[in-house]
Amino acid sequence: MMLTGMHVAIIGGDARQLEVIRKLTELDAKLSLIGFDQLAHSFTGATKTSINEIDVSDLDAIILPVHGTNLEGKVNTVFSNEKIAITEEMLLKTPKHCTVYSGISNSYLDDLMKAVNRKYVQLFERDDVAIYNSIPTAEGTIMMVIQHTDFTIHGSRVAVLGLGRVGMTVARTFAALGAKVKVGARRTEHLARILEMGLEPFHLQDLEKEVRDIDVCINTIPTLVVTASVISKMPAHTLIIDLASKPGGTDFRYAEKRGIKALLAPGLPGVVAPKTAGQIIANVLSQLLFEDLNKRKGKV
Ligand code: NAP
Repeated sequence: MMLTGMHVAIIGGDARQLEVIRKLTELDAKLSLIGFDQLAHSFTGATKTSINEIDVSDLDAIILPVHGTNLEGKVNTVFSNEKIAITEEMLLKTPKHCTVYSGISNSYLDDLMKAVNRKYVQLFERDDVAIYNSIPTAEGTIMMVIQHTDFTIHGSRVAVLGLGRVGMTVARTFAALGAKVKVGARRTEHLARILEMGLEPFHLQDLEKEVRDIDVCINTIPTLVVTASVISKMPAHTLIIDLASKPGGTDFRYAEKRGIKALLAPGLPGVVAPKTAGQIIANVLSQLLFEDLNKRKGKV
């Protein structure tokens, strides 16, 4: 599997993109790096350039950072002070087959990609990426619980809310450390799976009753579930870690008022394991680019 002949622009990002650059150069892709001028390391086969200089007319793919752009189209980069924006004008100059990759999207990128009619892939929507990423997320959660409690995880009573890709890994990991884990879900097949995993299932309808005896509450549900009323039933020493995407699923205002420590913990993979998080992206991306290349070769 090689990417020889493919021209890919990597625009901005953080340490995770270095793994992408490493992998794609290994696979012999031709890389144009934008927003990496302060990076001391140079990669053979990769050229550092700027957004004003790059000729986009032969680009096969554009790789944006995990967060894509901000709502004005600006791209964040930790390796440069260059102001970089992704615009309609620029994308319209790319070949029709040029694919744009980002981790997650926003309204700016959604509108832009519709307007320019190029293929657009959000890597973090993929099941495989979400499952791989749940591993460093669970490790980051362990780190936070250790930092913010004065008791061991072993023997503590932990409630995990949601049995999605993150919830399942977090529940399993805490159980493996010896915590007494209960998991709240709303689907009967999830309750069955929780039981099968040797954990204690409960229906989210019963959340208020179930939090009366817990030490740690880990939420993965991206909607308000840890309400004021739920928090009011928790023991005063309970630690709430909210993993759900911003703004989380916790009434943080009420938690603070009641003196319960509640922490929103976004982006843990990039914090605790940027190298692994980068490799997860790099592996999936190289596979997708390879499929793109093969499809086009098949058509020629
Ligand atoms: P997921 O697989 O979609 O799981 C979400 C879970 O929430 C599912 O079990 C779902 O249950 C449940 N849920 C959703 N809406 C609900 C509602 N209204 N009431 C009750 N349950 C509801 O997502 P995931 O990949 O596990 O990710 C979970 C969250 O963590 C997302 O917000 C994601 O962005 C975030 N995340 C954070 C980090 C971090 O570092 N903090 C890392 C990765 C992901 P049903 O199946 O019944 O709908």
